[in-house]
Amino acid sequence: MKLENFKGIVTGGASGMGRHFSLALARAGATVVAADMNDEGLNSLVAEAAGLPGKVFVHKADVSNEAEVVGLVEKAWELTGGLNGLVNNAGITRDGLLCRPDKETGEVKTMTLKAWQQVLDVNLTGVFLCTREFSSRVIKHKTAPAVIVNISSISRYGNMGQGNYSAAKAAVAADTEVWGKELARFGIRTGCVAPGFTETPMTAQMRPEMLEMMKKQIPLGRAATPDEQFQGVKFIIECDFFTGRTIDIDGGMRL
Ligand code: NAP
Repeated sequence: MKLENFKGIVTGGASGMGRHFSLALARAGATVVAADMNDEGLNSLVAEAAGLPGKVFVHKADVSNEAEVVGLVEKAWELTGGLNGLVNNAGITRDGLLCRPDKETGEVKTMTLKAWQQVLDVNLTGVFLCTREFSSRVIKHKTAPAVIVNISSISRYGNMGQGNYSAAKAAVAADTEVWGKELARFGIRTGCVAPGFTETPMTAQMRPEMLEMMKKQIPLGRAATPDEQFQGVKFIIECDFFTGRTIDIDGGMRL
């Protein structure tokens, strides 16, 4: 699919990579509906996208809420005149070890069910809901060829302190393969980008010493830019013989 023909939703489009993907797609002439919960970010995105060759619409939605996802896909369909693309990018972290004895008291602290569930709800159930609603409409209204790009993570290989996030991101890569097989006969392709450490507000929250330690473990010696992750998204959209696979863009790092 040519980028200029992409008419799709980008979740988590108000910030970081999702914001960059939305603007890069609009710069190439695509029509994007950026979905997010962050009103301020969505409003400033509209202003930033003004004058680009493509169009950026915005819609507030929580990807982990079934009714809101149904509403999002319905609205995005109307705004674009029929969707043919989806980038499942929205994600959160709630890091913590499964069990951690307190150094002084010996009391064993554990990851809370809330931290586990929140991450699974947004990072995995959100991807499921958006993909289901998008695909069923594309099939019903016969708007294929269509393409779905999921954003996983290097943590899919198992990162200490991210049992919740690693589980969700590994499942996203697995379901990219499942849905690639299931949806091919309807003209819908899937693909997944698994970013390594990338400069966004998500990583800006980390302590500077942690950031430095992470960078030392990356063979290329630095974090990625959002545009380097966009190269993967672009490839998946444009290559009509690509489906079901995950591309690691991680500077050569292995956890
Ligand atoms: P980011 O800057 O935090 O942006 C994520 C966006 O998603 C935010 O605008 C956030 O809104 C939104 N969001 C959160 N929960 C949502 C929900 N339930 N429904 C709709 N939108 C929601 O993060 P990023 O670094 O660009 O990450 C983008 C994707 O890449 C994520 O899937 C992340 O897991 C993945 N990733 C990032 C890195 C990295 O190093 N940055 C590495 C590997 C993978 P709020 O601001 O209101 O929370």
